Amino acid sequence: MTRHVPRHRPKSQSSSRAHASSGAEPQAPDRCPQVLTTALAAGDAPSSNPALTSEIPAHAAREVERQLAQPLAPGLYLVATPIGNLADITLRALAALSRADVVLCEDTRHSRTLLAHFGIRARTEPYHEHNADQMRPRVLASLAEGKSIALISDAGTPLISDPGYKLVREVLAASYTVECVPGACAAIAALAPSGLPTDSFHFAGFLPPRSGQRGTRITALAAIPSTLVFYEAPQRLAETLADLAAILGPRLAVVARELTKLHEETLRGTLPELAMLSATREFKGEIVLLVGPPLDVEITDAEIIERLSSALQSQSLRDAAKAVAGALGVPKARVYDLGLKVNQDA
Ligand code: SAM
Repeated sequence: MTRHVPRHRPKSQSSSRAHASSGAEPQAPDRCPQVLTTALAAGDAPSSNPALTSEIPAHAAREVERQLAQPLAPGLYLVATPIGNLADITLRALAALSRADVVLCEDTRHSRTLLAHFGIRARTEPYHEHNADQMRPRVLASLAEGKSIALISDAGTPLISDPGYKLVREVLAASYTVECVPGACAAIAALAPSGLPTDSFHFAGFLPPRSGQRGTRITALAAIPSTLVFYEAPQRLAETLADLAAILGPRLAVVARELTKLHEETLRGTLPELAMLSATREFKGEIVLLVGPPLDVEITDAEIIERLSSALQSQSLRDAAKAVAGALGVPKARVYDLGLKVNQDA
């Protein structure tokens, strides 16, 4: 099992909330150099190359100026915000948030701190799971008036395990524009450096908190021939890894913790290894859990029959076939058919 901690620590706080704390006075949106200086200051120290240190900010400032000079067309803008390191805000995000008539926030208090950090004075309104049904008609009415509306979540890309899907669906149904201002997303930030296959991945969001439902869900995901990507709460990591190891076997897996933050850490190993580690060590902070695709080994009929015979002692053929298929990562139909054949031959 391997553990990786980035050598060049990002200049960031340990949580995205603490991270967004502002020393800067809110500024009018048209003061782009302030916006940009703050964005650059939030990241790593600039390069020691004098040509780069003098040129990059000037070019970047001009790019923000160019963006700010253009009015934001009416429509809904899905704006990604950093997942930890504030320097991961994009120039387009700064420009969109500065110019939007309204910024819809999952948590206005949290997002106002982020906006203030970049000197952006925006009108903010809440959009979260508890007020979404009331807010959607209001958003549609604003779009009908030609307003530009930005949607942000507490961190990362809105709609990815965050509110906004129904809003986007209704805005599209009403034929208004929906545009993405892409940026940070924890799933992608964890996947790209994970060392697990990236050509095909399945984003599965949060697993159910209850063990029974979690097991059913993991079993349903078992045969997918792709890297699986989960979000997980630190206090549930140990039990989730134990369930994953029991159902999926010794697949390779990665725990990516506190991405882009001060205590960023990546642990690689097999599911049983990581399950054992998480049973003895406390994990804090935000976590993405990745599981490699089913192992590329030929599962023989004899292996399936052996597992099935043992499962059939306590379960019906249907349940046993499902459990064995999940454990071995083979199609349920293959296990079921073998079970029928064994029953006939008996
Ligand atoms: N929309 C966000 C995105 O684009 O990644 C995800 C929002 S979801 C409510 C929050 C979950 O994302 C956390 O519980 C954690 O699993 C994951 N996450 C967010 N930031 C993270 C980070 N810096 N490091 C690791 N995981 C993170």
